[in-house]
Amino acid sequence: MLFGTLCEILISTVSSLISAGVYEIPCSCGKVYIGETVRMVNTRMKEHQRDVRLKHITQSALAEHNIETGHRILFDKMATIATTTSYFPRKHREALKIQKHSDNLNRDSGYNVSRIWKTALSTGQRSTPSPTLQYTPPPLSTASI
Ligand SMILES: [Zn+2]
Repeated sequence: MLFGTLCEILISTVSSLISAGVYEIPCSCGKVYIGETVRMVNTRMKEHQRDVRLKHITQSALAEHNIETGHRILFDKMATIATTTSYFPRKHREALKIQKHSDNLNRDSGYNVSRIWKTALSTGQRSTPSPTLQYTPPPLSTASI
């Protein structure tokens, strides 16, 4: 059963990399780059890797960030957010993700997203968690039974 689950995860991971869609590539500093492609996500990732390696800062925001900061781009942690070959759903999904991820490496905010979505995203973000109360157990009784 576990093997079957692992196979399903592997198949979905591989199939998401060989289809068009929206993806994110994280950096070691916690920022992410969000992109979309009509080609295979895997192909686009290889182009990003090449741009970083060859320091093509005009072609890749990732390469620029890598050169400016020296941070490591975590290509092995790349994830496909959505798989779709349709232009507008892809652009929209990318833009929403960029809006949601204020800490992104993208040079622009992507496709124009309606203000309703921006408002929904900004109010939907988690606030800073309140400090947790620490439970201090009472001292153990030294009285013998
Ligand atoms: Zn970074």
